[in-house]
This record gives sequence, C-alpha cells and structure tokens, in this order.
Amino acid sequence: MKKLAGFIMDDTRPMRDRLFMLLVVSSISTMAVMFFVGIVIGESATDLITLGAGVVLFFIMSVIALKYNLIKILTPVAALILILIVMPVTFFTGGGIYGGSPLWFVFCALFISLLVEGDLKVFLLALDGVVIGICYLAAYRYPSFVTQHDTVEAYWDSFISTIFVCGVLCLMIGFEIRLLKSEMEKSKLKSREIDELNQAQNTFFSSMSHEIRTPINSIIGFNEMILQEDISPEVEENARNIKSSSGVLLSVINDILDMSKMASGKMDIVPVAYDVGDMISEIVNMMWHRASEKGLEFHVSIDPEIPSRLFADEVRIKQILINLLGNAIKYTDNGGITLSLHNGGVSENKILINYSVEDTGIGIRKENIPYLFDAFKRVDEKNNHRIEGTGLGLSIVKQLVELMGGEISVNSVYTRGSTFNVALTQEIVEETPIGKFEAGRTRHHHSDLIKARRSFEAPEARILIVDDNRANLLVEKKLLRNTGMTIDTAESGAECLELTLVTHYDVILMDHLMPEMDGVECFSRIRAQAGGQCQNSPVIVLTANADSVNRALYKRAGFDDYVIKPVDIEVLEGAILAKLPHELVRNVTEAGYTGYDEAAALMQQRRKIPLLITTDSVSDLPAEILEKTNIPVLSYKVYTDKAVFSDGIEAGGDAIVRYIANGEKMARSEAPSVAEYEEFFAKQLLGAQHVLHVAMAKRSSVGYDNACEAAGSFYNVKVINSGHLSSGMGLLAMIGNSLVAEGQTDPERLFEILNEKKEKIHSSFIVDSTLYLYLGGKLSERIYKLTSALMVHPVIELKDSSMKVGRVFLGSRERVKQRYINRVLRNRDRIDPEAVFITYVGMKKAELDSIKEKIQKRIPDANVYIQKASPAISINSGPGTFGILYSDK
Ligand code: ADP
Repeated sequence: MKKLAGFIMDDTRPMRDRLFMLLVVSSISTMAVMFFVGIVIGESATDLITLGAGVVLFFIMSVIALKYNLIKILTPVAALILILIVMPVTFFTGGGIYGGSPLWFVFCALFISLLVEGDLKVFLLALDGVVIGICYLAAYRYPSFVTQHDTVEAYWDSFISTIFVCGVLCLMIGFEIRLLKSEMEKSKLKSREIDELNQAQNTFFSSMSHEIRTPINSIIGFNEMILQEDISPEVEENARNIKSSSGVLLSVINDILDMSKMASGKMDIVPVAYDVGDMISEIVNMMWHRASEKGLEFHVSIDPEIPSRLFADEVRIKQILINLLGNAIKYTDNGGITLSLHNGGVSENKILINYSVEDTGIGIRKENIPYLFDAFKRVDEKNNHRIEGTGLGLSIVKQLVELMGGEISVNSVYTRGSTFNVALTQEIVEETPIGKFEAGRTRHHHSDLIKARRSFEAPEARILIVDDNRANLLVEKKLLRNTGMTIDTAESGAECLELTLVTHYDVILMDHLMPEMDGVECFSRIRAQAGGQCQNSPVIVLTANADSVNRALYKRAGFDDYVIKPVDIEVLEGAILAKLPHELVRNVTEAGYTGYDEAAALMQQRRKIPLLITTDSVSDLPAEILEKTNIPVLSYKVYTDKAVFSDGIEAGGDAIVRYIANGEKMARSEAPSVAEYEEFFAKQLLGAQHVLHVAMAKRSSVGYDNACEAAGSFYNVKVINSGHLSSGMGLLAMIGNSLVAEGQTDPERLFEILNEKKEKIHSSFIVDSTLYLYLGGKLSERIYKLTSALMVHPVIELKDSSMKVGRVFLGSRERVKQRYINRVLRNRDRIDPEAVFITYVGMKKAELDSIKEKIQKRIPDANVYIQKASPAISINSGPGTFGILYSDK
C-alpha cells in the first residue's frame, strides 16, 4: 500500500501512470467495500462473484503493471474488461438503471478519457457508448434479464456507487490541480532561470563591449599620433588601415552594446527639444565626406515647411539616419545618395516627419526584403561579402524606430538602388518653418560640425587631464603636445582634487566614468573646493556616451562643454581653444579644411511632389497635353521581324502600319516587363512621394499585371486598371492629374475616385478593315473573308475591361463613319466638353477636320484633340480606324 501511495505521489513518474494507479486503487477499494456490503445485505451470488473477481483482477493487474512497467498496455485491457464484463454484469445483476450501474458507466467513461490516448481512446469511448446503449435497450425490451434489487439493496448499491464516483471525481480533480500547480511552479522557475541567464548574458555583453571599447579608443588615439608624425608613405598606409579597421571594430562593438541594451529592455528613448537644422547639418557634415571619398554625390532635400524645433530623441534619430546613410554609401559605387525630410502632415501640436535615404546602389532582391531587418542577417552574401558589416545595423534601426512609435519601410530595385523610409511623429516646439536648408548655417558648436582644422600654440597655458585609464591619458597628452601647453594628468578624482588644491589650471579635461569618484562628482568638488585654485576653471567632460540623458546631466552639472571619445584631435583642440584665456593663445592657424562649401555645393533643393500620375504610351495622349500636364509615360514595345522599337519614340504609327500593310509582314506590341516598370517607378519616385499609375485595361494586355507586380516592390506606388485603352486611358490619367493639381494628394482616395470616374469614360473605335484584326489573331480567316466581302465595319468597345465588338455597321466607309459619329454623339448633353479625343490610324487631315467640325457643331464648347494612335494600338486596328473618346460630365 505504501509502495502504491509512493508511486502515486512520485512527481518524476508520468502523469498517466500515476492516474492509472489512482483509479485502479480506488476501484479496488470500492469494489471491496461493495463486496462486503453485498454479503451483509444479501446480494445475489453472481453479483458477489463479479465484484470479487473484479477486486482480484484489478489487484493482479496493478501488481503486474507496477512490477513489469506495463501500465501503457494494461490501461486499455482494464478499460476493455470494464466495458465488456464488469459494466454489463453489474448492470444486469445489480438492478439495471435502478442500481448503481449508471454511475459505473460514468466512471468507465472517465477512466478511458483520462488514461487512454489517440484513436484507441475514440474507439473505446465509442465501444463504451454502444455497450451502454445495448444494456439500456435490452433492459427496456426484456425487463426479465435484469435481476431487480429489493429496496434496501437498491439504496445500498446506489449509495456506495455515488460515494465512489464522487470520491474518484474529487480525487481526480484534486490530483489534477496539484499537478497543474507543480507544473506552474516548475515553469515559473524555468522562466526565472532563463531571465537570469539572459540578464547575465546581457550584462556580460555590455561589460565586455565596454572593456573592449576602452583599448580600441587607445588604439585609435595612438594611431592618430602616428598619422601626425612625419612618416613614410608605407607607414602612413598601414596607419590608415589601422584607422579604418579600428573604426569598423568600434562600430561593431557599439552595435552589440545597443543590441544587448534592447534585449534587456534598457534602451530608453529620451525626447528632448532639438533644432532640426542643426541635427541635419551634423549628419551631413559627418557623412558627405565619406560619400565624396567614394566619388558619390550627396543630395539633401528638406521640406522648408518643417518646423525648426521639434521634441524627440535627437540622438536616436541621428543614429538611425547615420546608419541608413552609412549603408547607402557602403552599398553604392556610382551615382549618389539623397537624404530627404518631408512634412507628412500636422495634427494638433504634432508633425509626422517622413525621412528617406535613397541611393543608386546595388539594390536588394525582392525575395530578400522580408529578412532585411533581422539581426545578424546579411542578404545577398554572394555579392556583398567584400563589404564589411555584421547585419546588425538595420535590426537596430528598426527596433529604434519602433521604440519611438514610428514605421520603417524599404523600396528597392535590384541593381538600381534602394530607398529606406522612416516615418516618425514628433511634437512641435517652435512652429517657425526651417526654410531653405543650408548645411553651413548651423550655429558654431564644435561638436556639431566638421570645423576648419585649427591649430594653436599656448606655451604658457597649463591644463589638467583626468582619466582612470593610463593609455587614454597618454594619447590625449601626446595629441596635444604640439600646442606647447603644460599638461598634467591625474588618474582619479582624488588625485585631481589634490592637484587642483595647489595648482591653477586654465582648462581641465575630465573623464566621466571613473571608479570611486566619477567625473561629475569630482567636478562639483572642484567647484566647491575650499582654497582650491580651480573653482572657476573651465571643465570639459570627456565622454563615450553623449546621449541625451548624459548631455542633460552635463548641462545640469554645469560643465563648460563636452567632447566625445574616442577624441578627435580637431574637436579637442577646438574645444580647448574656445575656453583658453585669449592672452595665452598664439599662432592660431586655419588649415583651411572645411566641409561646408563642397557639401553645400553638392546639395540640391529637390522637393518631391506628394503624388504623381503616370501612364503608358498606349494612352495616346497628345504631346501638347503631355507637356502641359507633365504626366510621365512608359513606352510599350513594338516588335517587327526586323527590330524592336519603343512605342511612340522610335516607331511611328504610320510607319509601322505601312510596314505591315500588304498583310505579309507582322508586328506585335508588348507591354513593358516587370523590371521595366520597376525602373520607371524608381525613377519617378526620385521626384515624387507617391505614384499612381494608370494602366491599360486589365484583360487587353499584361501591362496591368506587370505594373502591379512591379508596384509590389514599393510601398508608395499604386496601379489602377483604367478599364480602357488608347485615349480612354489618357482621359483617366488627365482627370487624375487635374484632381492632384486641385489638391487631392491622398493616393488611396484618388484611387477610389478614379475607379468611379473610369465608368464614365467611353472609348470605342470603328475599324475600317477587319484585315488587321485577322492579322493580330483576333479573327479567323473565314470570318475575315466574310466580313470584308460584306463591307462589315465593327465598332470595338471597351466593356468590363476587355475589348468587345459592340455593334457592326454595314456599307460604304462614308455612310458608316457618319452613323458611328451620330451614334457616339447622340447624348451630347452628357459629354464633358473639357477633352474629347479623336484617335485615329492612318487618316487624312481633311477627313479628321471634318469629324472635328461635326463634334464641335454638336458640342460647341468642346476641346477636341486629334491624336494619332500609338503603334501598339495601330497594329491591331489598321489604317482608317478612328474613335471618339470622351468622359461623361
Ligand atoms: P550590414 O552590417 O551587413 O550592413 P545591416 O543590418 O545594416 O547590416 O544591413 C543588412 C543587409 O541589408 C546588408 O548586409 C545588405 O545586404 C542589405 N542592405 C542594407 N542597406 C542596403 C542598401 N542601401 N543597398 C543595398 N543593400 C543594403
């Protein structure tokens, strides 16, 4: 018994085994009780034998199961014994439905549900149901089969069965709850362990990164000193390589630090009020030089309406843009990069700023775009393996953007270039618009700009550098030796205070993070030092973390300035020079190196228009309209057996029609490929924030599908199925264009409006000869011969986006022409006079003028445009074909 109890309570055993034992033990006990009660109340012999057999059988089973570990096999065996023997026998010998049997049925179902799994469970439950059904049916039909209990027996039987099933249920539920609790405890413990492990890992990463950063800073500093020496070209090359490699190493370490900060949820977003122009200047000054080193152009386009001061985490926004610009430079060999800022809309006191970084580089394959922002993921490794990187940058950028509640997206055309877009909502601090942006306009703060290389001498000046790292002290001291200043050093706050008590320093450079007494505390003690010699000396803090929080801290503490580590000699000298008393400074020389002019010269003010309507050459828009509206058009291709032409550019409609006139030569038109559409959209997006492309009727060409597929690469390109071809399409593009001009610049809304408008456009053509339809494979030879013999002139109409023969006119060309014009113009009051097109193939001017006259007679104020159909349209309809295309009012 003890062994059994131990088995049931043993947490290490499988739950089902423990349940099995629990049920078996409770069954044995109940059956034993019932057996003895049965003797007392005089149950039938069969009943007693069944119960006794049940006790013995279950006992033997439990012993075998325990001894030979056969619970898995014995469970269904026990279930089968219950279903097929115990239950029916107790039912028929124990009073049928008036005894305790129905409760045993419940117990049996419970036993199966809890202990058996899978298909076997379903089978046994079904069998149980069937046996129950048979028992009930047999008892109902043949009541004599059932040995009825007398009242006392019935009550006893029912009482003991109820107590048993209740007991088992309570035990089971209690057992389950216990189990659940212990599982929850275990999982809590596990998750705590995982958290602790993560925490330890992050702490390790961040302290390791910090530890690595310090020596790298020294390497950079010592190397900088070598570069300042008069060295041979070979040594200089080596030193430059050290410089670039340690720069890469430093940025990798910084990335790892950021990643571990994010993973441990310690990356805080600290919004501050900042000057947009200053921030952009700072970024431009950092990046233009790198771009120009690679021979790339650097463009900046800032919406002049953006407010001049905003409230957001300036440091993180800068980090995002620098990262994107760094990638743009890294992955571009020819052309240029563009940084743009656009006003995405103002509401209440907030503005949505759309930042975009665009390059003309290697681009990204469409299938790689979904993985671009994954950590450690570098895409297109085959082509990029020579370019340094860890694959962390974009993942950090994305997490930062999301932490700031913004969005990031990318448009890229493989081999053509990429555009990364970041949208961030920020509070407006000062509404005055930033105006025309000039990089050099920035206020003169040393750390904001690449400044002119200024050198000076100040042999009478004395300065103190405080840093707990000896290597740093050495680097900083050596970097400044050309100035001739006397430089003292202190390795701790305490040592610093000893020196400041007795010596006056003209400037003190103070490291921030130092053990025991940090830079901030040391600074306040210098200011308060009784009898100290440096209570009023300027103190510049040296810091590796110039984020918003620390900068606010330095400002609050009262530091005179800060310089970022690893120190840049120009910046450091500039900062000291600004604080040294004038009388101590001599020989200030300007080395004349400044980033402004060149950078400014490369910058262009290119404001993007919010929405651009584009279409295909098959929209047959007259040149005067194209010029007036500036709707960019992508050419279809015309293939002859001799060459391929760009529709409308190299191939004129008449020439092509003449070429195929005798019916022997063939020409066909083809829509631009997906790649051509991609290239076209990418080009248009250089000047527009969104593009809405009006494509040819979906079922008339693959153009619509190709355009849609290409648009999939861009978040800001939409394609509308015009449902028309030729000038019908053109009309829709014109309507879209004028709506944009009227201020409808929401692409989604315009898409909806144009979808309604296209139903109002009517485009039809009357074909002079069915020859070209036959040549284009649109008619069989028999039909062609029949129709030309009967002088049939079909009218081709666009319905539900596909071409259909609307009606046919029979007879001479003149009569048919007149009837077509009358038909089209029959509802003249409905026609919008703004633009009515006569689009034709191979017709004489006089004939066209007469059609124009007829239209103007009916609609006197109509602007009638006569436009030759493009070759792509012409080759399908042939000379003498014309159409009148218009829109309803
Ligand atoms: P990496 O350190 O490799 O540059 P990132 O996370 O910054 O890591 O970028 C991930 C990958 O995305 C890069 O390896 C590169 O393949 C691709 N990528 C990022 N920016 C560009 C871009 N402007 N042009 C082309 N490919 C890019």
